[in-house]
Amino acid sequence: MKHYMPVRLFSGEGAVEKNAALFASFGDRCALVTGKRSAVKSGALADVTAALEREGVAFCVFDGVGPNPSVASCIEAGRTAHEFGAAFVVGIGGGSALDAAKAAAVFAANPGLDEEGFYQKRWDRAPLPILLVGTTAGTGSEATKVSVLTDSRGRKHSIHDDRLFAAAAFGEAKYTASLSLPVTLSTGIDVLSHCAESFFNRNADEISRAFAVRGVRLLYAPLRKAAAGGELELSDRAALYEASLLGGLAICDTGTCFAHNVGYYLTENRGVPHGFASAIFLPALLELVKKKDPAYAERFFRETGLGKAELLELVGLCLPENAIRMTEEEIAAALPRWENNNSVRNTCCAVSTAEIRNILEQLFLKN
Ligand code: NAP
Ligand code: FE
Repeated sequence: MKHYMPVRLFSGEGAVEKNAALFASFGDRCALVTGKRSAVKSGALADVTAALEREGVAFCVFDGVGPNPSVASCIEAGRTAHEFGAAFVVGIGGGSALDAAKAAAVFAANPGLDEEGFYQKRWDRAPLPILLVGTTAGTGSEATKVSVLTDSRGRKHSIHDDRLFAAAAFGEAKYTASLSLPVTLSTGIDVLSHCAESFFNRNADEISRAFAVRGVRLLYAPLRKAAAGGELELSDRAALYEASLLGGLAICDTGTCFAHNVGYYLTENRGVPHGFASAIFLPALLELVKKKDPAYAERFFRETGLGKAELLELVGLCLPENAIRMTEEEIAAALPRWENNNSVRNTCCAVSTAEIRNILEQLFLKN
């Protein structure tokens, strides 16, 4: 087994406020990296700025991060941080803002670094220390060494590097209370994908499976409640947030498998939100494993305490109606990107390009 996750994680009431001194321990100037509205709406920005002011830390705010953040926006955030003389970077928001903050920390420490240099890891200096404050219960980016960005050609890539681990990450369920229902469902179902894709990954071991199984057990009831139109209590939000951290810990050990990577295509080309884009392939993943390694599929259902029908019902309740259509030509043109792809290769039962073609045809090729 192997496990490495050096982030100091704090969740629960007062996580930011109680740790104000920890923020200040990284220096007296910092850059806050956020999305357009979520940092304000969630209350997280107010908590962070109050903590920084109390500790005498000066800050600038870059609030230009969009969903599926572009490398260009991270370069800009990095420049803002560098010009301000920031000693550390604080990302506040969902996975998009957190991933952008990780990259901004690289660009801030390496002024002049361009997109190519970023992807080729020509990082002469270590990134600035990264602190993260999560406002979605979804990506688990707080616990991962991954930043998923969109390049200048419009392609999403995940970059993995130990230097992208945050020094510390904070989250409170109350920050997620302002999420709309569609974002609650899209981010919540992303947690299920992380847990399932980690479990059904070649790199899975007893540690990663423990995170994945516990994550599924925690998320099922609150996510089902939300999907069925129920009002979420703070305790439901807390369970979803804890599950998102467990999902992050699970994929931190294993990576994701084909569902995430094929999902990137739907986000890039059809604007499908990240969580929905991966989860649409979960039934196919379960089906594939059930066919090729029935004992291992059974183990997943036994350990999570959920039957296949229950899981598929949850996925169905969360996903919007599938209105995506692809032509045969579009499918054929997309396939090469998955021919030599790590996430596809890491799916526990070998997935061939022909099988991916079949899955895309079944889901999207309709008359
Ligand atoms: P997101 O893109 O960060 O946020 C989705 C939407 O929700 C945005 O419009 C955002 O607004 C809004 N929002 C966020 N928090 C809110 C709150 N508390 N209240 C109200 N609105 C809020 O969504 P996400 O699913 O968390 O992140 C998705 C990204 O993470 C994708 O790029 C995905 O590929 C990546 N990802 C990363 C990892 C990893 O390990 N690093 C793992 C899986 C996925 P604003 O625009 O105003 O912020
Ligand atoms: Fe994800």
